[in-house]
Amino acid sequence: MSKFWSPGVESLTPYVPGEQPRQRMIKLNTNENPYPPSEGVEEVLRHFPCEQLRRYPDPESIALRDMLARTYGVNREQVFVGNGSDEVLAFAFRAFFQRQGEALAIPEHTYSFYPVYCQLYGIELQKLPLNDRWEIALEDFPETGHAGIAFANPNAPTGHAHGRQAIKSLLERQRERVVLVDEAYDGFGGESAVPLIDDHPNLLVTSTFSKSRSLAGMRIGFAIGSRALIEGLERIKDSFNSYPLDPLASAVGIAALEDTRHHEECCRAVMATRERTARELEDMGMEVLPSKANFLFVRPKHLEAASVAASLRTAGILVRHFSKGGLSDWLRISIGSDEEMTALLEALRSLPPSSG
Ligand code: PMP
Repeated sequence: MSKFWSPGVESLTPYVPGEQPRQRMIKLNTNENPYPPSEGVEEVLRHFPCEQLRRYPDPESIALRDMLARTYGVNREQVFVGNGSDEVLAFAFRAFFQRQGEALAIPEHTYSFYPVYCQLYGIELQKLPLNDRWEIALEDFPETGHAGIAFANPNAPTGHAHGRQAIKSLLERQRERVVLVDEAYDGFGGESAVPLIDDHPNLLVTSTFSKSRSLAGMRIGFAIGSRALIEGLERIKDSFNSYPLDPLASAVGIAALEDTRHHEECCRAVMATRERTARELEDMGMEVLPSKANFLFVRPKHLEAASVAASLRTAGILVRHFSKGGLSDWLRISIGSDEEMTALLEALRSLPPSSG
């Protein structure tokens, strides 16, 4: 506690992201893409005119928004960009969910940053349990009296994704408040809800270049929605810090979107490695949930998840273990390269039975 803090800061808990190790490790804990970004991105970085940095960026990020609009079949006015989707989500929570006396409905297990935003922005939360298949129970979301709905699809950390038809049915029952569908893990076999935007002005889809486009370090996120929702976000953004993106990030983002072949090949490779890894983990007696993301949610069953994570760490492999929130029997394992996953499987096979 410091006397310099504003009231309320004391009760906040800082978000702790997955470990970023200093030494070389096989890093399967923060769902980064194992493959490098498109060669077009490298070209941009090599030839970027430094002179451009003297000036403020285009205040409306028009070139990148146009490219996103073309990619997703919407208009520029339906696209918002920010420094990673975390920032876009923060704006959305403030613009749409800060409603006195009404709670934001989220699944009990979903992206762990949502409760952090709620705490930061004084938003009440209503958490709904997943069903017995670890899926978001869309039918349990309240129809009225709430501040809105937010969830990740594919969900994290489970990897389960609802199809577009299921999201459409949810939207048919939600006319009053914003439904935020976080598609950070789009591209790995799930269906995007973006085509539903035309008929549902309360649908906001957020996504990122951090996962399927291998650009977590560049911080490019975006939202697609009706003009009314995008205008709401534009009112919340601050000066030049977020929207627009800096000119380098914009140029890199455009190059990444242009290389559709590279994107498809990376996603296909990740999905193939995911399915092979899932089968092999199941053959080892582990429970593996079906995943449409670039990670697997795995229950070692006869071993304790925390000690498996610790043993893997000693072997130089990082995976994610959530010690809190009722998920302590499970591990979230990001899909790395084939070689990395082979090393993971070998390390798991050589775990002593006593680590349980
Ligand atoms: N949504 C979900 C579901 C995520 O898992 C993440 C990344 N951890 C994000 C959003 C944020 O991604 P970024 O800020 O890198 O775009």
